[in-house]
This record gives sequence, structure tokens and C-alpha cells, in this order.
Amino acid sequence: MSFKLLRPSWTLVRSLASSATPKKTDIFIVGGGPAGLTLAAAIRTSPYLSGLNTTLVDAGDLKGKTAQFFHNPPEDFSNRVISLTSQSKKFLEQRVGVQLMSDRLQAFDGLYVSDGCTDAQLELEKDSMGFMIEIFNIQSSLLHRLSGLQSPTLNLIDQTKVLSIEYKNPEDPQSWLKVSLSNGEVFETRLLVGCDGFNSPVRKFSNIESRGWFYNRFGVVANMKLDFPPFKVRGWQRFLPTGPIAHLPMPGDRATLVWSTTEPLSRLLLSIEPQQLALLVNAAFVLDDVDMQYYYKQLEQGSITTQELQEDIAHRTEVKYGKLEDETLIDEIYPPIVSEIDGSSRARFPLKLSHADSYVAERIALVGDAAHTTHPLAGQGLNMGQGDVESLVKVLEVASQRGLDLGSLLALEPYWAERYPYNNMLLGVVDKLHKLYSLDFGPIVAARSMGLKLLQKLEPVKHFMISSVSGKAR
Ligand SMILES: Cc1cc2nc3c(=O)[nH]c(=O)nc-3n(C[C@H](O)[C@H](O)[C@H](O)COP(=O)(O)OP(=O)(O)OC[C@H]3O[C@@H](n4cnc5c(N)ncnc54)[C@H](O)[C@@H]3O)c2cc1C
Repeated sequence: MSFKLLRPSWTLVRSLASSATPKKTDIFIVGGGPAGLTLAAAIRTSPYLSGLNTTLVDAGDLKGKTAQFFHNPPEDFSNRVISLTSQSKKFLEQRVGVQLMSDRLQAFDGLYVSDGCTDAQLELEKDSMGFMIEIFNIQSSLLHRLSGLQSPTLNLIDQTKVLSIEYKNPEDPQSWLKVSLSNGEVFETRLLVGCDGFNSPVRKFSNIESRGWFYNRFGVVANMKLDFPPFKVRGWQRFLPTGPIAHLPMPGDRATLVWSTTEPLSRLLLSIEPQQLALLVNAAFVLDDVDMQYYYKQLEQGSITTQELQEDIAHRTEVKYGKLEDETLIDEIYPPIVSEIDGSSRARFPLKLSHADSYVAERIALVGDAAHTTHPLAGQGLNMGQGDVESLVKVLEVASQRGLDLGSLLALEPYWAERYPYNNMLLGVVDKLHKLYSLDFGPIVAARSMGLKLLQKLEPVKHFMISSVSGKAR
């Protein structure tokens, strides 16, 4: 059974799909997030795999809300913005043939990282080091690409949940898998791919253990308007003792906020007036932690007005600026001033580390957040998923050329062998960075500041870090 990616046909298919007779499909993808849609499009555009019957199911409104984003984009940016490495962008555009909405993404030419306890800093510079882009841009551009391919072998089902997964023959773990959906359809598949996020039902079915922990931190995101478009387009990150705050460029005079912080503080940042949040963001990149703690307390107690906050921050900022050797440094070491924050764009996400012990089992592969999740401080989560897709498709192509059963462990294991060590290294580095910068114990702060100052002088190490940020190291 197959149908085109056009709305009328979907409705038709839903109404026809009442029969519970299992339908056969070669590859069944659970999840239409960035990982799942990239995988579907990479399969469809592969000379070796495009003939395989592929089914993708997602609980969300992919064909309506998500697809519409490409054809009728909203004026304001959506609040789920991520940093895409040049490697991931190249894979999407050149290998998969996706046309991203270029007027809604922003290349950045470097990162300025500083320690909130000591002001030690690290400057990483490279033209188009990465790209800030809305997740909706990636998903809707992928849907547009899939719809353009008009592939009769792709079956895309949205607003539907996977209810259960079982082996066709419970006695035989190599038998095909039977997947039952909330719309009544049942599929039998040779290969089931879980692109179904952190709570992955596919991973749970597979009994693959996932290890990790919650950081007890939340990532607060929001859309920001700047005083004027920046002259130098780069990302800014400052490690505060409560967690890193990132100020990342979007087109024109827009920017996006990712403020990783404690649970009580994340609640405060979501509850104060948007103007107060804008003032706090500006202050967080300049002032000391004691100043910030004072403001948090005053705001929690409701004992400071917006005007008082503004005046106090302006005064302390002037004092800090006055200590600089040279006034021209202000634009070099502090991000552009935020003039407004769209209060309705604010949201918070719990931050966690997780890593599955394996990405494959008989007839199963895990991709993206289903296999691993990481703290956003290095902007790598979605990019790791893109790397997984690239690797899995390559492995399936080899298996297909060799005539192997695509769902067999023999075919799938090279995927896990290639991706696990790289992802594990990245998850470990990010985890250590988070822990190192969460401490405000004097000797450790001094040592890490010395380390950052040393890094600033070590060009080869800086070069490696730049390669990692732009995805060249994967
Ligand atoms: C604050 C924050 C900032 C971040 N910044 C960055 C960044 O700068 N760079 C970066 O690379 N990454 C970043 N990330 C991480 C990135 O957002 C995720 O890694 C990425 O979105 C995961 O994509 P995915 O497709 O693997 O999973 P998801 O986006 O979680 O998609 C899973 C899909 O599976 C579907 N699904 C689940 N269960 C079922 C079911 N039973 N039936 C049907 N469908 C189901 C869901 O509907 C969903 O669409 C950030 C994350 C956070 C929280």
C-alpha cells in the first residue's frame, strides 16, 4: 500500500485503512522528527534502497502543521532553534537533496566562550562554522523534498501512534516484526527503526538498556530581538555556576536564547515579565554571579520593579565597562544588547544524558535521541542523529548490494560499530564540561580558567574544537 504526499490522498488512505490484515513493508520508521524524516528521505534518494517499501509513522501533525511551515511560514521564528553543523547541512542539501528555507537560517562565523566566574575566554573563529536553524525548517523542508519525490514506495502516516510491537512468531526472534497502530493498521516489517525520541517505544520493546541521568537542569529557550543587527555574527556562551547561557544569532536583528539552569531558576525565568528576562540576559553576559543572585532573589520576592532592575543593571554594567582597558572591547567580548523577548516563545526542557548500550538488535535499529541524548551546551544532539542516519543508510546500502537480509544483525552491526564510539566520546566530553563548569570551588575554577586561557593560545587544539563544532570530526 502506498500513496502520494498530498492531503486528499492521506484522508483517502486513512478511511481505506480499516482492514487489520497486516501490510508488508521492508523498513518501518517510528518517528517523524528530524532523524526519522532525514532517514526516510535518505532511503528514498539512495540508488540502492529507493525501491524498498518504507513506512514512516508519527504521532504529530506532519502533513498539516509541519508541512505548512514550508509553504506558509509564520513571520516570527519558532522557539525550537538548533545549531546545525556544516557537515549535517551538507548531508541534507547535497546527499538528500533538501532545499532548506535559506531566509530562515543564519550562518555564524565563530563562538565566544567565557567563564562567568573569572571572565577567562576562548574565541573560536571560522567562516560559516555552523548554522542556526529552526527544527520546523528542517522537518518541513524534508517533507517538501519527500512530496517532490512522489515516491510510490513511501507510506507516510501521521497523527497516529504505535500501540504495540511484537515478533510475528514469538518463538523466533529473527521473524519479522508486527507493528500495530492507533488507526487500526497493522504492519509486518523486515526492519524497524526507532527514531522515536528519548522515550523510544522501539528501544523499550528491544530491551536494549539505556543508561544516563537527568542533570536536574532545564534549558530555557526564547526568541530575542536585538538593539541592532550585529556587525560580527557569532554565538556567545557564558558558563555561569548555575549552567551555561547561550545567545545565538538568527537572521537580521533576531537571536535565540538557550539558558541552561536550575529548576527553580528556570521557573523564575519563565514567570517574570519578558522585559525583565531581556534585562537579565544582558546582565548575565557582563555581571558577576553575586549580582545575578541578588537579582534572582529580588525578582523571586517581587521586591524590585522593572525600572529599578533596569537602572541597577545599567549602573553595574557601566562600572564593569569602566574596568576595561579599552572601550572598543565592549563589542568584542559582550554579545549584542537584547531589546525585547517574545514572552510567548519561552519554554523549558529537562536536560539529560542517555546512551543506549547498543543501537541494534535483531530487526531493530535505533537512531537519534532514541539512542542518545546530550546536554545542549555543545549543540550536538540533532547533529549526532544526522550522523547516525548517514551511517545507517551507508550500512544498509552495503547490505543490500551484498544481498543480506536488511534486518539481520549481520547487516546492522557495522552501523553500531561506527557510531557508538564517536557518540560515546562526544557524550562524555559534554558531560565532563557540564560538570567542570557547575563547580565554583576556588582551585577548580582557577585551574579551568587557566585551561581556557591555555586553549586560547593552542591553535591546533582550537582547530580540533572548531572541526567538532562544524561536524568535520565525525
Ligand atoms: C534546549 C535544547 C537545545 C538544543 N539545541 C541543540 C543544538 O543546538 N544542536 C543540536 O544538534 N541539537 C540540539 N538539541 C537536541 C535536539 O533538539 C534533539 O537531539 C533532536 O530534536 C532529536 O531529534 P529526533 O528526531 O531524534 O527525536 P524527536 O525530535 O524527539 O522525534 C521523535 C518523534 O517520534 C515520535 N514518536 C514517539 N513515540 C511515538 C509513538 N509511540 N508513535 C508514533 N510516533 C512516536 C514523536 O512524535 C516525535 O516526532 C537541543 C535540545 C534542547 C532540549
